[in-house]
Order: sequence, then C-alpha cells, then structure tokens
Amino acid sequence: MGRDQQIRLLPPELQNQIAAGEVVERPSSVLKELVENALDAGATRIRIQIRDGGQSCIKVSDNGTGIAADQLELAVTRHATSKLESLHDLQEIRSFGFRGEALPSIASVSRFRMSSSREDGDGSVLEVLHGRILGQDRTAMPRGTEVEVNDLFSNVPARLKFLKQPATETRKCAELVTRIALANPHVDFELLNGERSVHRFLSGQDPAQRLAAIWPREVVEALHEVSYEDGLFRVTGLVGDPAMAQARPDRILIYVNTRPVQDKIILSAIREAYRGRILGKEYPQAVIFLQLPPDEVDVNVHPAKTEVRFQDESSIFRSVRRAVLQSLERSFRRPDVGDQTLPLAIGQVHAALPTMEARLPDPSQIQVEQKWAAPYEQPWPQKFASSTTAQKLFETPDNSSFPSGSESGPVESPFAAPTLQYLGQFARTYLILAAENEITLIDQHAAHERVLFNMLRAQGLRGERRPLLLPLEMPLHPAQSSRAQEIWTELDGLGFSLELAPGPRLLLNSIPALLTPSKAREFLEDILTDKAVSMENLWAVMACKAAIKAGDALTGDEALALVDSWQRLPEKNYCPHGRPVALHWGVSELEKMFKRRS
Ligand code: ADP
Ligand code: MG
Repeated sequence: MGRDQQIRLLPPELQNQIAAGEVVERPSSVLKELVENALDAGATRIRIQIRDGGQSCIKVSDNGTGIAADQLELAVTRHATSKLESLHDLQEIRSFGFRGEALPSIASVSRFRMSSSREDGDGSVLEVLHGRILGQDRTAMPRGTEVEVNDLFSNVPARLKFLKQPATETRKCAELVTRIALANPHVDFELLNGERSVHRFLSGQDPAQRLAAIWPREVVEALHEVSYEDGLFRVTGLVGDPAMAQARPDRILIYVNTRPVQDKIILSAIREAYRGRILGKEYPQAVIFLQLPPDEVDVNVHPAKTEVRFQDESSIFRSVRRAVLQSLERSFRRPDVGDQTLPLAIGQVHAALPTMEARLPDPSQIQVEQKWAAPYEQPWPQKFASSTTAQKLFETPDNSSFPSGSESGPVESPFAAPTLQYLGQFARTYLILAAENEITLIDQHAAHERVLFNMLRAQGLRGERRPLLLPLEMPLHPAQSSRAQEIWTELDGLGFSLELAPGPRLLLNSIPALLTPSKAREFLEDILTDKAVSMENLWAVMACKAAIKAGDALTGDEALALVDSWQRLPEKNYCPHGRPVALHWGVSELEKMFKRRS
C-alpha cells in the first residue's frame, strides 16, 4: 500500500508483471503459450530453440497466418486477442488461447522480440524490454511468426531463484513439446537445445510413433488403441499393457479437445478401468484424448489453462472408464505371450525345467473331457469351501449365461476354451492344461482367489455365517478396536458376529463360512491393521485367506472343479491383486521356441 493511501491504477507493465506471476511460472510455461499461439495461427511447422533451459533464450518460429504490422503492438497488449469477441464465444472455446494475456505477461518479464509477416517477404519486428515497447521496424521474412524471449525473469529475481538446473528446465520443455506434439500429429515439430536437436516429430506420425521418443520401446509396443464414441463424447488414445504397470503416475497423459490438461475425473476413470488388473499401488500408461462439444467444458478455470471443468462429470467418468475397459478387454484378455513377453515366458520355462515333474495323466485324469461335459454334476471338493458356498460358486451372476451341459461332447461357455484337457499339477502350484492349439499354466492360488473374490463380490453383504460353539477371543490394540468399530457393518455383512469386550478384546461368535477359525483370525488381524479399507479390499483379503495355497497338492477332481469355475469368469486372467492367473503358449510360439520355425 502506498504511504499516502491513495488508490491508483497500476501502470500497464506492473499489471502485466503481476499477471505473469500466474501465467509464466517457468520456461516451459512460456514455451506452452508460444507453441499454442502458433497452433492457433494454423501453423503446420513449428521450430523451437532453447538455451540454458530456456532461461537465456526461447525462440519459436511458425508458418502460421502471421500478424499484420499494425497489430503487432496489440498482440502484446493485455486483454487483446483475435480469438474471442463475445461472452458467447467464451462459452464455446475452440482455440488454445483466448485470454489475451500470455504475450504481454511474457514480454513484461523478459527481453522480447516478435517478428511476423502475413505474406512472404514483407514483415515487421517489435521489440519490448520488461514490458516497455522499444520500437517496431520492417523486416524481410517468410509468412509466419517468430517470437524470441531472452533473459526470462531478468527483472524478477524472486522468480529466477525458483528455476531449477538448466538440465531440469530443458527436460520440462522437451516433455511439454512432446505432450503438445502427441495431440497434433499433422504438425511438424522440431526442438533444439542450443544447436543440438532434441526432438523431431515429422508431420503424419501417429501418437505411438511420437511416444517412442519419450517412453521405453517395450512400453510403447505394448500399447493398445482406445476408440470409443458415446453420444456427445469421443474417447480415443492408447492404453498400456497391465503387465507393464509402473510405480509412478508419470505416463498418464490426458487431453480435452486436444488441450493437455490435468484432470482428476479422467484420471480416476482410467484407474477404475484398470482396477483388478494392476496392483492398487501401480499406475498404467495411458494417453487419453477426450473430444466433446466446446460448450460441455469450461476451459477458463485457470490462467495457465491446464485445468478444465465439465458440465456433466459423471457421464465423462463413465465414458472414459468404458472406453478404457473396452480396449483392455479386447486387447489384454490374458497375459499374452506376444513378442514382448515371450523372452520372459521362455525364461520361466527354462527356470522350471530342472524340476519339471509334471505327472503323466493318470487314468482318472484321462476322462477329463468327459467331466468337462457336465460341470454341474461335479462335487465341489470339500477343501475349497463349505458345500453351500460351493453351490453358490456355480451360480454366481457372472456365470448366469453359461449354457447347461449336454450329455456328450464338451461344453462351451462364452468365456471358456471349448476343449481343455487337464494334464496335471506342476510344483504343487501350477495346473497344466492343454487346448487344441495352446498349452496353459494356471497359478492355482491366483485362480482360486479370483473365483472366491467374484463370489464374495456377488454376495456383497449377505455373507454366510459359520457359528462357533465356543466364541474365539482376540486381543486388540486400541487402534484396532476403533478400526473394528468403523467397519462393523461391513464385517457383519461378511459373516462375522462380533462383540467388543473390555481389554479391548474381540469376541467372535460366528465367522464367514468361507474361512476356518484360524483364517478368520488372520483376516481380522490384517484388516484391522490396514489403513485403507474398501469393500473390494475386504473381499480380496478374504479371498486370499480362503484360497488354496501354492504348495497344496490337489487331486484331479479338485483341480478340475477349480479350473471349471475359474474358466467361466469374465475377469479370469487376473487375480484380485492384478497378478496374472494364467500363461499360455500357442503352437506357433512353441514352434518358434524350439526353432522349428523362425
Ligand atoms: P491469446 O492467445 O489468448 O489470444 P496471446 O497474448 O497469447 O493471447 O496472443 C495475443 C494475440 O496475438 C493472439 O490473439 C493472436 O492474434 C496473436 N498471436 C500471438 N502469437 C501468434 C502467432 N504465432 N501467429 C499469429 N498470431 C499470433
Ligand atoms: Mg495465446
């Protein structure tokens, strides 16, 4: 506040410098504004050069429409824009820019020079220093615009201090250029760091080709296309193989009407689609382009325009989730032994060979195909669950469309391979199955876990109880006791009848039918120590506790019953934690591995 307490209008340079605080955070944000201006001007070729991480120089030249000589000064005047005329336009933005404040902001914190020409040969150049116009001159140049930003923040030492090492700023600039290039495949981009070329994206490349410049090859090669349309919304892009999931969310790129944005709704829709395919702490790779009518989205939420607001958030969530899910279901029906995973798969076989003890099928197993024919008549082995739960296994809603078996010949379910032959158990952990054209290894624990999880999910909070004649007692920490109270209803729904006694102690009067008393106790121990508990989580932990383990020997009947209920599940290829349940090798893959064929 001035000492005389007078209210006055700030001089324009100061207004712009204040606005610059929001729009221009670092060199890459300058670059973003300049490149977006070039795209708005219809450029098909954009050349970018930076020096010292962009701090000493950022230069962007384009072959767009150019700016007329008498408009150059306006371009660096606040709230001057060619992209918006009325409030109505503001509700239907089709350009990247519209606020008319990027150039004046940038010019107020740098040594700024802009040359432009609307016709080959005849151009003008304008120079600005820290917001003050120094002058304008004529210059000969081809049609287009070139903006040069030198000594960024030289008059704002506070900002200068916040800049990272030049190498870091350079990386941010390179990422930004790639992000924009992904959404504009028809435009030729070139990024130079000093004289060295960092990226060259030729026009006509598709997003996957451009991604190959920044993501590892095996990740890019395992991407699958998303293509989905739903009324007003169109969702396209690429999604990664669940098997390639990673610990950080840094390979999820979201675009709304070709604008790179950060968006929680789309991000959570993507993660939701992957749920059950990857671990809770993992992130997939995804590039999602959402196209929707401009009046369905407000892009004027943030000065840097990196956030948007949707009219209909829940429809957006649903469309994106469906789009991704559809692609995942189409492309990753199972952990594929495609080119990418083959070396690993071969490695696993090699590692297994010395101890390979797959038994030859014994007579009871040779009848397998016969048994396959009548799945409903198979007794559910006692080992898996109580008889009533076993009954349910065959009646989960997931299987409701399963056709009933005929007397002869194999039964075909919508999900199952028509004739699977059970060959035996290997390492007391894997079940070996042969179909006509491929051989499959199933992880018995993961498969059973998946079967039980789906069953638990289907029964929700109508869990069956197993009353205990003598109540079990469990000492609790105070923290566990308050956790128990928080999820009391859910525990009750799962089949627990509990009482809290002083101590604190927990009395278990009944437990879920699926669990033995000792597993019920283990389950509670785990669940009450866990911080983030969701219903999915409870089912997953319970399925894990109740499932047969690696190392459990199975009889032929038991193995068959398991394979049978497993193979009819829609999400059969991943366990609830997202690990693969089955590995497959096709005849042609085996031929390759044995070098019968190249
Ligand atoms: P906005 O993009 O929000 O309109 P800017 O400050 O970024 O605001 O740019 C101001 C104006 O300058 C734009 O509206 C446009 O008319 C013009 N302009 C800026 N850069 C270019 C360019 N590369 N080619 C043609 N015109 C440009
Ligand atoms: Mg702009």
